[in-house]
Amino acid sequence: MAMFDKILIANRGEIALRVQRACRELGIKTVAVHSEADREAKYVKLADESVCIGPAASSQSYLSVPAVISAAEVTDAQAIHPGYGFLSENADFAERVEQSGFVFIGPRPETIRLMGDKVSAKDAMKKAGVPCVPGSEGALPDDPKEIIRIAKQVGYPVIIKAAGGGGGRGMRVVHTEAALINAVAMTKAEAQAAFNNPVVYMEKYLEKPRHIEIQVLADQFKNAIYLGERDCSMQRRHQKVLEEAPAPLLNPRLRDKIGERCAEACRRINYRGVGTFEFLFENNEFYFIEMNTRLQVEHTVTEMITGIDLVQQQIKVAAGEKLTMRQKDVVLRGHAIECRINAEDPYTFVPSPGKLSTFHMPGGPGVRIDTHAYAGYTVPPHYDSMIGKLITHGDTRGQAIARMQIALSEMVVEGIKTNIPLHRDLMADAAFHIGGTSIHYLEQKLGIYGR
Ligand code: ADP
Repeated sequence: MAMFDKILIANRGEIALRVQRACRELGIKTVAVHSEADREAKYVKLADESVCIGPAASSQSYLSVPAVISAAEVTDAQAIHPGYGFLSENADFAERVEQSGFVFIGPRPETIRLMGDKVSAKDAMKKAGVPCVPGSEGALPDDPKEIIRIAKQVGYPVIIKAAGGGGGRGMRVVHTEAALINAVAMTKAEAQAAFNNPVVYMEKYLEKPRHIEIQVLADQFKNAIYLGERDCSMQRRHQKVLEEAPAPLLNPRLRDKIGERCAEACRRINYRGVGTFEFLFENNEFYFIEMNTRLQVEHTVTEMITGIDLVQQQIKVAAGEKLTMRQKDVVLRGHAIECRINAEDPYTFVPSPGKLSTFHMPGGPGVRIDTHAYAGYTVPPHYDSMIGKLITHGDTRGQAIARMQIALSEMVVEGIKTNIPLHRDLMADAAFHIGGTSIHYLEQKLGIYGR
């Protein structure tokens, strides 16, 4: 297949602009779709064409499958890039896109479906030789005696997780047998209500893990490579706050071993596009928890240390091109850090939408900013609070941190609250400087603030 002439970008905000830039560099025209609330957005004006697909509520615009597909029809786009969030991991959407004669820029719908169910995903990964968190063999049975037996075998504490879960919801930690059966029943009920799927499974609850994920890239001819890892352990309520690549203090041999397993798993499931294998990492062992079958917010840090444009690669393999890189061509250079800049109170995390009266961005060597915001832009209250990403790159982790400190000190956003003060604190944090903090570190630190 020849390269696309025109791509519809089914997303908003910084990622809509990011995808648009990749398209422009490849000489591809772009269609922006937007809600009534995003009519004035910069990327909408910069796109070759734009289509209003509905009112502010995302359920009636960015999440509306018929609205997005009709926009592709009227503009004669050939492919649809889903970005992240919204419809990006919706297998039914991917299927409808392909049935309507467009290319979905992502994996095949059946792959999205397989990985979207965490029980089937874990099962597939186990078969492919990817190490998983010890736990139940698939879904938990109904028989309470069996559940108790499995928990005893796994060892307390355990975590009960919904097969259809996502976004950090549908999970419950259980410390004692006395609490087990009730916890399973409650998680099942919640899973049914939230994901329309009552299936739950059990894992050993790891007490102090790090979150380390492997980036992969694959074409439709079973060529697959891994592009190093990212450490995303700095989280609050399972939301990533800051990411970096490579993961501090990780033995390169361990990286190559787990990376090769992930690439091999991609070949086995015939994976296509970019993807991320998420792991918990404890005592120098990787434990698979889930796969994201899409581009991720934090893809930028991988781009900075590999020099590879992940969005362009994603588009090329979707157009049917063969990967031109081999594993040995992937060379990790230096260190990169990304701070997610959110419109929110830095310590209570309450969203703070509104008009940006001042917006001064930093610059200089090794500084990258991905944002759709500008002075005078109004952050709408309807969507995610992320207004941009500040990324720095350096020869060493120390240099990346120093550059981030300078960049954050130069950055001025007024008119709304942002989490920039939190990032400034983190860049001065002694444990962060050492590196390798667990996924609980930030919440513990925030507890110190007493807010
Ligand atoms: P989601 O799709 O909702 O993000 P994940 O399976 O990725 O669900 O888990 C989200 C987070 O929950 C993890 O990053 C980790 O903080 C915590 N978690 C999940 N499984 C475990 C486990 N077995 N032990 C400890 N923490 C876990």
